[in-house]
Amino acid sequence: MLCNIKKFNLKELSSQTFFLFVNTMERVSNRLEKMAVSATLAMTAKSRELQAQGIDVINLSIGEPDFNTPEYIKEAAKEAIDQNFSHYPPVPGYESLRKAVCTKLKRENNLDYEPAQIVVSTGAKHSIMNTMLSIVDPGEEVIIPAPYWVSYIEMVRFCEGVPVVVKCSIDSDFKMTAEQLEKAITPKTRAIIICSPSNPTGSLYSKAELKAIANVLAKYPEIIVISDEIYEHINFVGEHESIAQFDDIRRRCVIINGVSKGYAMTGWRIGFIAAPLWIAKAVTKLQGQFTSGACSIAQKAAEAALNAGNSECKKMTKIFKTRRDLVLGLLKEIPGLKLNTPQGAFYIFAEVSSFFGKEAEGMKINTSDDLAMYLLEKGHVATVGGISFGSPECLRLSYATSEDRLTEAAKRMKEALAKLK
Ligand code: PMP
Ligand code: GLU
Repeated sequence: MLCNIKKFNLKELSSQTFFLFVNTMERVSNRLEKMAVSATLAMTAKSRELQAQGIDVINLSIGEPDFNTPEYIKEAAKEAIDQNFSHYPPVPGYESLRKAVCTKLKRENNLDYEPAQIVVSTGAKHSIMNTMLSIVDPGEEVIIPAPYWVSYIEMVRFCEGVPVVVKCSIDSDFKMTAEQLEKAITPKTRAIIICSPSNPTGSLYSKAELKAIANVLAKYPEIIVISDEIYEHINFVGEHESIAQFDDIRRRCVIINGVSKGYAMTGWRIGFIAAPLWIAKAVTKLQGQFTSGACSIAQKAAEAALNAGNSECKKMTKIFKTRRDLVLGLLKEIPGLKLNTPQGAFYIFAEVSSFFGKEAEGMKINTSDDLAMYLLEKGHVATVGGISFGSPECLRLSYATSEDRLTEAAKRMKEALAKLK
């Protein structure tokens, strides 16, 4: 199209023809047109915009630890630069990193994997998309319990798959039961995605709950289980439980994990899968055409992170737990919010439907997205409405920020919400 433009004398084109011409050229693919913008990233961008205008916005919209990456990890990265880890790394990741992942899976999860079953990618988000693209054909269904992390739905749709949403409520701590799962399975089901600890709810599936789900899945050998365990380390109640521990389904589980959340390494962009060999090979093939191996320096940093164990993660988790208790206590004092007690990650997913239909300062609240906008504009607190998480009646708050800021945020929310009549 751009080449064609040069063949025309633009002056001879009527303004209407020119408009139509440009309009046809500036057209993104239908596939992309249908994709929603990531609500978590959009809200974060909006609050950064207001901050840039000098407004003191408290950002509870972004899901990332506020801690800096631990020193020993940064040192490993500096060393990797000095040692010239500047060449293309192998497509599935350095063998040494994949071995470190296997050692971690044995040490922390008692799971046996070979390095050939591990593929390192540019963040866990990339790992999930790679997996979806490798296994989902058009028209195939992927079961997604709601509330879900915003990107799952869009990823399935991008693969021309069909998301099958199983709605779970605050009364069951937003968790899907084995019975709900069984009802959602059809002959077209290709995969299910489970996220524990969960974004956006902070819920954890217990071993017994996972076992019940695994028992259902054992009856359907064609279903792939994608287990997103990126928040594994941020667990306030005990040991992490992976659904891959159950023998009946292990050979079709894809564990998604990485260093972003537990090691405060969101910007380094390292995620990985631990998968059956055929999926690891498929993801490697895909990655070989689209992105190649993940950043070499970041891989060496991730290797150092994993090899040193999880004591740094535990320190950060302790702080997250203190903050959870603080913020939950403060939010409980706000009339109209329905809350449960999240057991992991760093999110609170509050039910806010009691505010629907109310208004203040010229803003009417019909949805949780309206409420998020109201809180941002009038209270200067950034949250994310529940619509993009598949739960329009809820609002997500991330408490990955300091106690002072959390206290101030709760105060602002209380004041702003009290004005809604
Ligand atoms: N899964 C979930 C549930 C997440 O919250 C995130 C964070 N964005 C990811 C995957 C992706 O993690 P990463 O930053 O490593 O891509
Ligand atoms: N996972 C984080 C969140 O949900 C980071 C943003 C994103 O990648 O969506 O806020």
